[in-house]
Amino acid sequence: MLETSPIPSQRFTEGVPRDEDVSATEPYIKRGIRDEHGSQNPVDAMLYEENGGRKHLLLLSEIFSSVQGEGVNLGSPSVFLRLAVCNLHCWYCDTKYTWLYSEKMLQSVRAELGELGVDESKFPSDLRVYERSAEAREVPIKEVESRIRAFEIKHLVVTGGEPMLQQSQLVPLLRELKNGSGYNEKSNFYVEIETNGSIKPTEEILPFVDQWNVSPKLASSGNSTFARERKDALKSLASLPNSFFKFVVSQECFDQDLQEIESLASRYGISPRKIILMAEGTEASILKDRTASLSKVCEKRGYRITPRLQILLWGNRRGT
Ligand code: SF4
Repeated sequence: MLETSPIPSQRFTEGVPRDEDVSATEPYIKRGIRDEHGSQNPVDAMLYEENGGRKHLLLLSEIFSSVQGEGVNLGSPSVFLRLAVCNLHCWYCDTKYTWLYSEKMLQSVRAELGELGVDESKFPSDLRVYERSAEAREVPIKEVESRIRAFEIKHLVVTGGEPMLQQSQLVPLLRELKNGSGYNEKSNFYVEIETNGSIKPTEEILPFVDQWNVSPKLASSGNSTFARERKDALKSLASLPNSFFKFVVSQECFDQDLQEIESLASRYGISPRKIILMAEGTEASILKDRTASLSKVCEKRGYRITPRLQILLWGNRRGT
């Protein structure tokens, strides 16, 4: 597993400009599928429109219980609902199995790393094509609800991939979990959604989300500015009283990342108390040192710091 960023720091300033972004949603975009909000939710639209109406399905990667390892609810016992597919493709992503399903996508990420000046010998070890049929399954929403309730933990973290690609499908699930059929011990879940901040939430989903964990991607992620910085989405998420913004800071482009975070905060009105910094890395001893360096920055700027508790406790393993 990747332990240090392989990208020379001087290559980080602009990101990788590309004419057209290739993503795991491309097959749906090519089929011309659009949802009622435009073209940003092709997976949602696929699940919504096929067979002439709503298919009560979510495109699921995995469901498991653990403790929340990052952010303001660090340490809270939680059920994690990980949805498949992402509209971005960060080279350091530790859940590539949720979106890296084609040779074309693999070549695209490899090309980006090449353009960023990374030697092939330093490419992430998990950079490979995953089998979509084994990793992403269409599961009925009722079944997802039963599996979540079976853990008997009323704290749900919806993550991915990019879960907001399926936000229309999430609404009925979250409505049930928040309200149930009459209040009882297993309803009234606390719901967090983890998102890369590139998709604007609809009015329908807002009442069912207690906390938005927004993690906008920086130039050092390898995604183009067009793909990662969607103005409407960021403005909308920044204006919510229950949103936090978690930024991954890489060691090799420490200063550039921090400048970019400051610039995003100023352009989208993100107050320092909403900002959480997290060191990039999947190796416990390296993360510890990086987190210590970042904590000094947080002290000065009034940001928060978060460790990656799951890495410290379990290493870089799935289902933690
Ligand atoms: S946005 Fe998140 S899930 Fe998507 S590729 Fe980047 S790190 Fe992975």
